[in-house]
Amino acid sequence: MRALVKAGPTEGFELRDVPVPTIREDEVLIRVRAAGVCGTDVHIHDWDAWAQGRCRPPFTVGHEFSGVVERVGGLVTSVQVGDRVTAEGHIVCGRCHLCRTGNAHVCPETKIIGVDRDGAFADYIAMPASNAWHLDPAVSFAIGGIHDPMGNAFHTALHGTQLPGATVLVTGCGPIGIFAVGIAKAAGASAIIASDVNPTRLALARRMGATAAVTPAEAAEAVRAATHGLGVDVVLEMSGVPAAIHQAFALVRVGGRVQMLGIPAKPMEVDFATEVIFKGITVYGVVGRRMYDTWIEMTQFLRAGQFDPTAAITHTFPLERHAEAIAAIKSGEAGKVIFEVSGDR
Ligand code: NAD
Ligand code: ZN
Repeated sequence: MRALVKAGPTEGFELRDVPVPTIREDEVLIRVRAAGVCGTDVHIHDWDAWAQGRCRPPFTVGHEFSGVVERVGGLVTSVQVGDRVTAEGHIVCGRCHLCRTGNAHVCPETKIIGVDRDGAFADYIAMPASNAWHLDPAVSFAIGGIHDPMGNAFHTALHGTQLPGATVLVTGCGPIGIFAVGIAKAAGASAIIASDVNPTRLALARRMGATAAVTPAEAAEAVRAATHGLGVDVVLEMSGVPAAIHQAFALVRVGGRVQMLGIPAKPMEVDFATEVIFKGITVYGVVGRRMYDTWIEMTQFLRAGQFDPTAAITHTFPLERHAEAIAAIKSGEAGKVIFEVSGDR
């Protein structure tokens, strides 16, 4: 089968011919139909300091995907051959304190497909059956292939927040930020201010339902106007850029909530006294998707047609054109980039 492989400790990917994975008794073999390309894949492609510290080549990359179950192990009862699925890409131990208290998204034993073991940019992937997630008939393989980053956005937008009627600031309109804009809209937020430095991405945020899409320099005024000077109830921090993180703390209202998804590239200084403590705010660190409350919420929003991410997918490539997919992400001109891995065969 074809697989996009991180072959060694240098820049780049190689499309190789490799054996179809074998499955264990508790695993399923999935024929991949669509697969989302993510910033993490760019880090692995570029072989930056994070990738060097974390990844052990050779392995197949890719962690966002959908497909059709082709084979099931002898112990599998929850999934059948022919099922249309996506999957939670974080494989957790199921036994630790966190897993057993409903917090598997922060299991210390987590292994991520396409990072710590073979991933989804291939004709087939082996997954534990317990990670497979059935797609509704109405949900396309393309949308199935982006459940992982959409789930990040659902987790950030909905966990511990009360969005009906709320005023929301989304800092950073990359793929996950623009999903979050659409989710906040679907969840009934009354005002959604989106900020980014990139005009293409601000246009996407408008398409996804932002009531105002502005540059960081304009964000304070937009928040003042939308909240009569109070500040927003909720900030969804989707950039990881220190200036945006400070702005999140500055523009949330006293007693509000800042949901932090974006990952700063290096340590940064925060004035906890003025930015956090005396504002009485709650800060929530987002890791992946909650298992499986986030998946249930996401499925229900999609099934009802309340949230439609289609407009966020701006580029689709076959696996052979992987270099163009990486370039599209790096250009900053893309929303979500996906691979169409296989059609009906
Ligand atoms: P992305 O890099 O495509 O998006 C970030 C956006 O922030 C870009 O559009 C950029 O132009 C914008 N930006 C830059 N400076 C800004 C500023 N001062 N104010 C507002 N916006 C600004 O990334 P993405 O794929 O959408 O992911 C978003 C973030 O989430 C990244 O930091 C990523 O590493 C992180 N992430 C976290 C998790 C998690 O589990 N916590 C999972 C996936 C991704
Ligand atoms: Zn665990």
